[in-house]
Amino acid sequence: MSILSLFHPRNRHQGRYDFIELIEGMPELGAFVRANPHGDQSIDFANRDAVQALNAALLKTWYGVVHWDIPEGYLCPPIPGRADYVHHLADLLAERNAGVIPRGPAVRVLDIGTGASAIYPVIGHYEYGWHFTGSDIDPVAVRSAQAIIQANRGLRGVAEVRQQKLPAHIFNGLVGVNERFDLTLCNPPFYSSSEEAANSSERKWRGLGRAGARHKRPLLNFGGRDTELWYEGGEALFISRMAKESMTVQKQVLWFSTLVSKESNLPEVYRSIKNAGALDVRTVDMAQGQKKSRFVAWTFLNRADQEAWHSRRDANAARNC
Ligand code: SAH
Repeated sequence: MSILSLFHPRNRHQGRYDFIELIEGMPELGAFVRANPHGDQSIDFANRDAVQALNAALLKTWYGVVHWDIPEGYLCPPIPGRADYVHHLADLLAERNAGVIPRGPAVRVLDIGTGASAIYPVIGHYEYGWHFTGSDIDPVAVRSAQAIIQANRGLRGVAEVRQQKLPAHIFNGLVGVNERFDLTLCNPPFYSSSEEAANSSERKWRGLGRAGARHKRPLLNFGGRDTELWYEGGEALFISRMAKESMTVQKQVLWFSTLVSKESNLPEVYRSIKNAGALDVRTVDMAQGQKKSRFVAWTFLNRADQEAWHSRRDANAARNC
Protein backbone atom coordinates (compact mmCIF):
# COMPACT_ATOMS: atom_id res chain seq x y z
CA MET A 1 0.00 0.00 0.00
CA SER A 2 1.48 3.36 -1.02
CA ILE A 3 1.45 6.29 1.35
CA LEU A 4 1.03 9.57 -0.44
CA SER A 5 3.51 12.22 0.66
CA LEU A 6 3.76 15.91 -0.08
CA PHE A 7 7.00 17.45 -1.26
CA HIS A 8 10.07 16.43 0.66
CA PRO A 9 10.65 18.83 3.58
CA ARG A 10 13.99 19.96 2.12
CA ASN A 11 12.43 20.68 -1.29
CA ARG A 12 12.80 24.42 -1.89
CA HIS A 13 9.64 24.56 -3.97
CA GLN A 14 6.94 24.34 -1.31
CA GLY A 15 3.72 26.24 -1.90
CA ARG A 16 3.09 28.58 -4.79
CA TYR A 17 5.75 30.11 -6.99
CA ASP A 18 6.71 33.61 -5.85
CA PHE A 19 6.63 35.28 -9.25
CA ILE A 20 7.69 38.68 -7.92
CA GLU A 21 10.90 37.19 -6.56
CA LEU A 22 11.44 35.06 -9.66
CA ILE A 23 10.99 38.01 -12.04
CA GLU A 24 13.43 40.02 -9.93
CA GLY A 25 16.06 37.36 -10.62
CA MET A 26 15.08 36.88 -14.25
CA PRO A 27 13.15 39.81 -15.75
CA GLU A 28 12.49 37.90 -19.03
CA LEU A 29 10.00 35.73 -17.11
CA GLY A 30 7.77 38.79 -16.63
CA ALA A 31 6.56 38.63 -20.23
CA PHE A 32 4.92 35.25 -19.54
CA VAL A 33 3.28 35.91 -16.16
CA ARG A 34 -0.39 36.76 -16.01
CA ALA A 35 -3.38 36.21 -13.74
CA ASN A 36 -5.05 32.82 -14.13
CA PRO A 37 -8.87 32.40 -13.91
CA HIS A 38 -8.55 32.24 -10.07
CA GLY A 39 -6.83 35.61 -10.05
CA ASP A 40 -3.44 34.15 -9.07
CA GLN A 41 -0.25 34.93 -10.94
CA SER A 42 0.80 32.08 -13.19
CA ILE A 43 2.16 31.18 -16.58
CA ASP A 44 0.66 29.23 -19.46
CA PHE A 45 2.08 25.77 -18.80
CA ALA A 46 1.20 24.74 -22.36
CA ASN A 47 3.65 27.35 -23.66
CA ARG A 48 7.12 25.85 -23.87
CA ASP A 49 8.87 29.24 -23.85
CA ALA A 50 7.01 30.19 -20.68
CA VAL A 51 7.97 26.93 -18.95
CA GLN A 52 11.56 27.38 -20.10
CA ALA A 53 11.66 30.92 -18.68
CA LEU A 54 10.13 29.73 -15.39
CA ASN A 55 12.71 26.94 -15.13
CA ALA A 56 15.61 29.25 -15.84
CA ALA A 57 14.30 31.67 -13.20
CA LEU A 58 13.83 28.90 -10.61
CA LEU A 59 17.29 27.51 -11.24
CA LYS A 60 18.86 30.94 -10.97
CA THR A 61 16.93 32.04 -7.89
CA TRP A 62 17.14 28.82 -5.91
CA TYR A 63 20.31 27.13 -7.12
CA GLY A 64 22.51 29.96 -8.45
CA VAL A 65 22.56 28.50 -11.97
CA VAL A 66 23.47 31.41 -14.22
CA HIS A 67 23.08 29.69 -17.56
CA TRP A 68 20.49 27.05 -18.40
CA ASP A 69 19.09 26.57 -21.85
CA ILE A 70 17.92 23.57 -23.85
CA PRO A 71 17.49 23.08 -27.59
CA GLU A 72 14.09 23.44 -29.22
CA GLY A 73 11.96 20.32 -28.88
CA TYR A 74 13.76 18.80 -25.86
CA LEU A 75 12.13 17.92 -22.56
CA CYS A 76 11.71 20.94 -20.29
CA PRO A 77 11.53 19.35 -16.85
CA PRO A 78 9.26 20.50 -14.02
CA ILE A 79 11.91 21.40 -11.42
CA PRO A 80 10.08 20.76 -8.10
CA GLY A 81 9.37 17.10 -8.91
CA ARG A 82 12.91 16.48 -10.07
CA ALA A 83 14.23 18.02 -6.83
CA ASP A 84 12.06 15.69 -4.76
CA TYR A 85 13.73 12.56 -6.15
CA VAL A 86 17.16 14.00 -5.31
CA HIS A 87 16.24 14.79 -1.70
CA HIS A 88 14.77 11.33 -1.09
CA LEU A 89 17.95 9.78 -2.50
CA ALA A 90 19.99 11.88 -0.10
CA ASP A 91 17.97 10.36 2.76
CA LEU A 92 18.66 6.88 1.45
CA LEU A 93 22.39 7.58 1.51
CA ALA A 94 22.15 8.93 5.04
CA GLU A 95 20.66 5.67 6.36
CA ARG A 96 23.89 3.71 6.65
CA ASN A 97 25.96 6.82 7.27
CA ALA A 98 24.90 7.39 10.86
CA GLY A 99 21.92 9.43 9.66
CA VAL A 100 24.14 12.07 8.05
CA ILE A 101 23.74 12.95 4.38
CA PRO A 102 27.12 12.55 2.73
CA ARG A 103 28.01 15.72 0.83
CA GLY A 104 30.71 16.88 -1.53
CA PRO A 105 32.27 15.61 -4.76
CA ALA A 106 33.52 12.36 -3.23
CA VAL A 107 29.91 11.22 -3.53
CA ARG A 108 29.63 10.01 -7.13
CA VAL A 109 26.26 9.86 -8.84
CA LEU A 110 25.38 8.41 -12.25
CA ASP A 111 22.36 10.00 -13.94
CA ILE A 112 21.14 7.63 -16.65
CA GLY A 113 19.51 9.56 -19.49
CA THR A 114 20.46 12.98 -18.18
CA GLY A 115 18.71 14.67 -21.12
CA ALA A 116 19.44 18.04 -22.70
CA SER A 117 18.67 19.77 -19.41
CA ALA A 118 21.10 17.91 -17.13
CA ILE A 119 18.50 18.65 -14.52
CA TYR A 120 19.55 16.08 -11.94
CA PRO A 121 23.25 17.02 -12.01
CA VAL A 122 22.26 20.67 -11.68
CA ILE A 123 19.97 20.15 -8.69
CA GLY A 124 22.05 17.39 -7.07
CA HIS A 125 25.30 19.29 -7.24
CA TYR A 126 23.93 22.59 -6.02
CA GLU A 127 22.02 20.91 -3.17
CA TYR A 128 24.62 18.44 -1.93
CA GLY A 129 27.88 19.12 -3.76
CA TRP A 130 27.84 15.63 -5.30
CA HIS A 131 29.85 14.74 -8.39
CA PHE A 132 27.68 13.75 -11.36
CA THR A 133 28.24 11.64 -14.42
CA GLY A 134 25.36 11.93 -16.87
CA SER A 135 24.75 9.50 -19.71
CA ASP A 136 22.58 9.78 -22.78
CA ILE A 137 22.22 8.09 -26.15
CA ASP A 138 21.16 11.29 -27.90
CA PRO A 139 24.19 13.29 -29.09
CA VAL A 140 22.27 16.58 -29.12
CA ALA A 141 21.19 16.03 -25.51
CA VAL A 142 24.78 15.15 -24.58
CA ARG A 143 26.12 18.35 -26.16
CA SER A 144 23.43 20.48 -24.55
CA ALA A 145 24.08 18.98 -21.11
CA GLN A 146 27.82 19.52 -21.58
CA ALA A 147 27.19 23.14 -22.58
CA ILE A 148 25.20 23.74 -19.39
CA ILE A 149 28.05 22.33 -17.30
CA GLN A 150 30.64 24.44 -19.11
CA ALA A 151 28.55 27.60 -18.77
CA ASN A 152 28.25 27.31 -14.98
CA ARG A 153 31.50 27.68 -13.07
CA GLY A 154 30.10 25.76 -10.12
CA LEU A 155 29.54 22.66 -12.27
CA ARG A 156 32.84 22.55 -14.15
CA GLY A 157 35.01 19.70 -12.90
CA VAL A 158 32.22 18.21 -10.79
CA ALA A 159 29.90 17.07 -13.54
CA GLU A 160 30.51 15.33 -16.84
CA VAL A 161 28.36 13.79 -19.54
CA ARG A 162 29.11 10.65 -21.50
CA GLN A 163 27.49 9.41 -24.65
CA GLN A 164 26.09 5.89 -24.32
CA LYS A 165 26.89 4.50 -27.75
CA LEU A 166 25.00 1.24 -27.14
CA PRO A 167 21.32 2.29 -27.01
CA ALA A 168 20.18 -1.13 -25.80
CA HIS A 169 22.45 -0.85 -22.77
CA ILE A 170 22.50 1.11 -19.59
CA PHE A 171 25.72 0.40 -17.66
CA ASN A 172 27.58 -1.73 -20.20
CA GLY A 173 29.86 0.38 -22.34
CA LEU A 174 29.55 3.25 -19.90
CA VAL A 175 30.86 2.32 -16.47
CA GLY A 176 34.59 1.57 -16.21
CA VAL A 177 35.76 -1.55 -14.36
CA ASN A 178 37.28 0.44 -11.51
CA GLU A 179 34.56 3.03 -11.23
CA ARG A 180 32.25 3.30 -8.25
CA PHE A 181 28.99 5.19 -7.84
CA ASP A 182 27.24 5.90 -4.57
CA LEU A 183 24.00 6.31 -6.49
CA THR A 184 22.54 5.74 -9.91
CA LEU A 185 19.32 7.51 -10.78
CA CYS A 186 17.12 7.59 -13.83
CA ASN A 187 14.01 9.15 -15.27
CA PRO A 188 13.39 6.55 -17.99
CA PRO A 189 11.63 7.02 -21.33
CA PHE A 190 8.11 6.08 -20.24
CA TYR A 191 5.94 5.43 -23.29
CA SER A 192 6.12 2.25 -25.33
CA SER A 193 5.51 3.86 -28.70
CA SER A 194 5.29 7.25 -30.32
CA GLU A 195 1.49 6.71 -30.63
CA GLU A 196 1.21 6.23 -26.88
CA ALA A 197 3.20 9.42 -26.36
CA ALA A 198 0.95 11.28 -28.78
CA ASN A 199 -2.25 9.98 -27.13
CA SER A 200 -1.06 11.02 -23.72
CA SER A 201 -0.17 14.39 -25.15
CA GLU A 202 -3.71 14.68 -26.47
CA ARG A 203 -5.12 13.93 -22.99
CA LYS A 204 -2.83 16.48 -21.34
CA TRP A 205 -3.72 18.99 -23.97
CA ARG A 206 -7.43 18.46 -23.33
CA GLY A 207 -6.73 18.87 -19.62
CA LEU A 208 -5.25 22.26 -20.42
CA GLY A 209 -8.41 23.14 -22.35
CA ARG A 210 -6.74 23.23 -25.73
CA ALA A 211 -8.46 20.40 -27.57
CA GLY A 212 -9.30 21.52 -31.06
CA ALA A 213 -6.27 23.72 -31.63
CA ARG A 214 -4.54 20.80 -33.33
CA HIS A 215 -2.43 22.70 -35.78
CA LYS A 216 -0.58 24.62 -33.08
CA ARG A 217 -0.08 22.10 -30.39
CA PRO A 218 3.33 20.85 -29.33
CA LEU A 219 3.85 17.12 -28.72
CA LEU A 220 3.63 17.58 -24.96
CA ASN A 221 3.30 20.66 -22.84
CA PHE A 222 6.78 20.05 -21.46
CA GLY A 223 8.17 19.21 -24.89
CA GLY A 224 10.29 16.17 -25.50
CA ARG A 225 11.71 14.37 -28.50
CA ASP A 226 11.01 10.80 -29.47
CA THR A 227 14.07 9.26 -27.79
CA GLU A 228 13.25 11.04 -24.56
CA LEU A 229 9.67 9.94 -24.39
CA TRP A 230 9.43 6.43 -25.64
CA TYR A 231 11.32 3.20 -25.74
CA GLU A 232 10.23 -0.01 -27.42
CA GLY A 233 8.55 -1.94 -24.60
CA GLY A 234 8.08 1.21 -22.51
CA GLU A 235 9.56 1.99 -19.13
CA ALA A 236 8.95 -1.54 -17.84
CA LEU A 237 11.33 -3.05 -20.37
CA PHE A 238 13.84 -0.23 -19.97
CA ILE A 239 13.91 -0.76 -16.21
CA SER A 240 14.03 -4.54 -16.54
CA ARG A 241 17.12 -4.15 -18.67
CA MET A 242 18.58 -1.78 -16.15
CA ALA A 243 17.91 -4.22 -13.30
CA LYS A 244 19.45 -7.10 -15.23
CA GLU A 245 22.54 -5.10 -16.13
CA SER A 246 22.85 -3.77 -12.61
CA MET A 247 23.93 -7.30 -11.69
CA THR A 248 27.10 -6.85 -13.76
CA VAL A 249 28.19 -3.80 -11.73
CA GLN A 250 26.62 -4.86 -8.44
CA LYS A 251 29.71 -4.29 -6.30
CA GLN A 252 30.48 -0.93 -7.94
CA VAL A 253 27.25 0.82 -6.93
CA LEU A 254 25.86 1.45 -3.47
CA TRP A 255 22.23 2.16 -4.50
CA PHE A 256 20.64 1.82 -7.93
CA SER A 257 17.38 3.68 -8.50
CA THR A 258 14.84 4.67 -11.10
CA LEU A 259 11.57 6.54 -11.33
CA VAL A 260 8.60 4.34 -12.23
CA SER A 261 5.89 6.54 -13.71
CA LYS A 262 3.23 3.83 -14.06
CA GLU A 263 2.17 2.05 -10.90
CA SER A 264 1.04 -0.91 -13.04
CA ASN A 265 4.68 -1.49 -14.03
CA LEU A 266 5.77 -2.09 -10.43
CA PRO A 267 5.24 -5.89 -10.36
CA GLU A 268 7.47 -6.36 -13.41
CA VAL A 269 10.04 -3.97 -12.00
CA TYR A 270 10.15 -5.85 -8.69
CA ARG A 271 10.41 -9.18 -10.50
CA SER A 272 13.41 -8.01 -12.53
CA ILE A 273 15.17 -6.65 -9.47
CA LYS A 274 14.53 -9.86 -7.56
CA ASN A 275 15.79 -11.96 -10.47
CA ALA A 276 18.93 -9.86 -10.53
CA GLY A 277 19.51 -10.89 -6.92
CA ALA A 278 19.30 -7.56 -5.09
CA LEU A 279 19.41 -7.76 -1.28
CA ASP A 280 17.24 -4.78 -0.47
CA VAL A 281 14.54 -3.01 -2.50
CA ARG A 282 12.78 0.23 -1.56
CA THR A 283 9.84 2.08 -3.04
CA VAL A 284 9.50 5.75 -2.20
CA ASP A 285 6.23 7.46 -3.09
CA MET A 286 6.19 11.06 -4.13
CA ALA A 287 3.30 13.35 -4.98
CA GLN A 288 3.28 16.51 -7.02
CA GLY A 289 -0.15 18.04 -6.87
CA GLN A 290 -2.52 15.55 -8.48
CA LYS A 291 0.27 13.48 -9.94
CA LYS A 292 1.58 10.49 -8.04
CA SER A 293 5.05 9.28 -8.72
CA ARG A 294 7.56 6.97 -7.16
CA PHE A 295 11.06 5.65 -7.41
CA VAL A 296 12.38 2.21 -6.73
CA ALA A 297 15.88 1.71 -5.33
CA TRP A 298 17.86 -1.50 -4.89
CA THR A 299 21.23 -2.59 -3.62
CA PHE A 300 23.36 -5.73 -3.69
CA LEU A 301 25.27 -4.71 -0.58
CA ASN A 302 24.36 -5.81 2.93
CA ARG A 303 24.27 -3.45 5.85
CA ALA A 304 27.91 -3.95 6.87
CA ASP A 305 29.10 -3.47 3.27
CA GLN A 306 27.05 -0.31 2.98
CA GLU A 307 28.57 1.12 6.17
CA ALA A 308 32.03 0.14 5.00
CA TRP A 309 31.37 1.83 1.67
CA HIS A 310 30.70 5.19 3.39
CA SER A 311 33.75 4.88 5.65
CA ARG A 312 36.03 4.02 2.75
CA ARG A 313 34.75 6.89 0.63
CA ASP A 314 35.19 9.38 3.47
CA ALA A 315 38.68 8.07 4.29
CA ASN A 316 39.71 8.39 0.63
CA ALA A 317 38.26 11.90 0.43
CA ALA A 318 40.16 12.93 3.59
CA ARG A 319 43.41 11.51 2.17
CA ASN A 320 42.93 13.41 -1.10
CA CYS A 321 42.24 16.69 0.67
N1 SAH B 1 16.76 13.23 -17.08
C1 SAH B 1 15.98 14.10 -17.94
C2 SAH B 1 15.59 13.43 -19.25
C3 SAH B 1 14.75 12.19 -19.11
S1 SAH B 1 14.08 11.61 -20.65
C4 SAH B 1 14.76 14.58 -17.18
O1 SAH B 1 14.42 14.00 -16.15
O2 SAH B 1 14.12 15.53 -17.62
C5 SAH B 1 14.94 10.04 -20.87
C6 SAH B 1 16.35 10.19 -21.44
O3 SAH B 1 16.92 8.90 -21.54
C7 SAH B 1 16.40 10.79 -22.87
O4 SAH B 1 17.27 11.88 -22.87
C8 SAH B 1 16.92 9.64 -23.73
O5 SAH B 1 17.70 10.07 -24.82
C9 SAH B 1 17.72 8.87 -22.70
N2 SAH B 1 18.01 7.46 -23.00
C10 SAH B 1 17.25 6.56 -23.66
N3 SAH B 1 17.87 5.36 -23.69
C11 SAH B 1 19.04 5.50 -22.98
C12 SAH B 1 20.12 4.61 -22.64
N4 SAH B 1 20.13 3.34 -23.03
N5 SAH B 1 21.15 5.11 -21.91
C13 SAH B 1 21.16 6.41 -21.52
N6 SAH B 1 20.16 7.29 -21.83
C14 SAH B 1 19.13 6.84 -22.55
